Amino acid sequence: MTTQRISPRIGAIAPSATLAVDSKAKALIAQGRPVIGFAAGEPDFPTPDYIVEAAAQALKNPQNFRYSPTPGLPALKEAIVKKTRRDSGVDIEASQVVVTNGGKQAVYEAFATVIGDGDDVLLPAPYWTTYPEAIRLAGGNPIEVFADSYQDYKVNVEMLEAAYTPATKALIFVSPSNPTGSVYTPEETKAIGEWALSKKIFVISDEIYEHLTYDGVQATSILKAVPELADYAIILNGVAKTYAMTGWRVGWLYGPADVVKAATNLQSHLSSNVNNIAQQAALCAVSGPLDAVHSMHEAFDRRRKTMVEGLNSIDGVFCPTPQGAFYAYADVRGLFGKSIGGVTIDSSATLAEVILDQAEVAVVPGEAFGPSGYLRLSYALGDADLAEGLGRIQKLLATAV
Ligand code: PMP
Repeated sequence: MTTQRISPRIGAIAPSATLAVDSKAKALIAQGRPVIGFAAGEPDFPTPDYIVEAAAQALKNPQNFRYSPTPGLPALKEAIVKKTRRDSGVDIEASQVVVTNGGKQAVYEAFATVIGDGDDVLLPAPYWTTYPEAIRLAGGNPIEVFADSYQDYKVNVEMLEAAYTPATKALIFVSPSNPTGSVYTPEETKAIGEWALSKKIFVISDEIYEHLTYDGVQATSILKAVPELADYAIILNGVAKTYAMTGWRVGWLYGPADVVKAATNLQSHLSSNVNNIAQQAALCAVSGPLDAVHSMHEAFDRRRKTMVEGLNSIDGVFCPTPQGAFYAYADVRGLFGKSIGGVTIDSSATLAEVILDQAEVAVVPGEAFGPSGYLRLSYALGDADLAEGLGRIQKLLATAV
């Protein structure tokens, strides 16, 4: 055996910082400490009953106990075609869809399918923590393009152009964004789509938060903004966030025929079809109404306002108002160099630790998503816990000297 037991590719994967905060918080809770979690990446609502009922019915049909086509149940793919027309104004065919084991598998398959050794991928930062790992696993190099709080964490064409090289093969585009909650306007989306088209690079567009937008803002699919991108666009989506179905593990991608064929080949060896019961539940979800997301929306919107106001009332903290998803991304660089409870704040990782240790509130440091200096706070938690957690943070940070 060679000296290295774990393969270099897998050994190089960074542990998920979001999960690290989560497990530390859970360990404290297990010790009986009243930790409030702002780290969650999932709605705090149950999956709607009628969707659960569809799964229960599916359990009674033995056909669902057998293998089904790798790229997904035909009825689900058809429902995704209709849903895409309804929600994005984009026309696709069922043959362009691959149903995956959650949006995460769609992310992985998209990069694995088009990225090879040495290819560069433009990665707007702050980014969702899975993207760079999926890019590196495919042999590619994530090229971070960082947009700061004063530009709402949104990149523009000039910034992408400055990072572009002949090795650039793809751009990842996420709107609404995890971790920042930023939403690109139709004009911004169009400009970026047209720029990508002019470079003939793939755009991998993650639209999983499409229905979670606020202040009357709507998410724009990059394919709607620039239909000519059809040969270069791979769109990622899933039921997790819209229908409170994170644990069911159903997502999908759609794209040009050659990409879909290759991704299906990969999935046929990787995981075959997605669990049929979960696919039947997803079929019920995507072919049904959007009532669930509308009722979650009201609660999220209310909590979003409380969260942003509360954060901006703290000296040294600046939080732009997010218009999508369920995260606030606070710029905390104003606290750097200060001391809290005897600890000097030299990074957002230190600050997150201090907040967990001294205020018993779990937040995710910016280091998980790009540069230090920021905290991600999910507002997918109950109003009372939100108020309590915010109060504790405000009280603790007021002691910074
Ligand atoms: N994309 C983004 C931007 C996400 O935040 C998530 C979930 N955290 C996913 C994709 C994956 O969702 P899932 O695998 O649960 O469907």
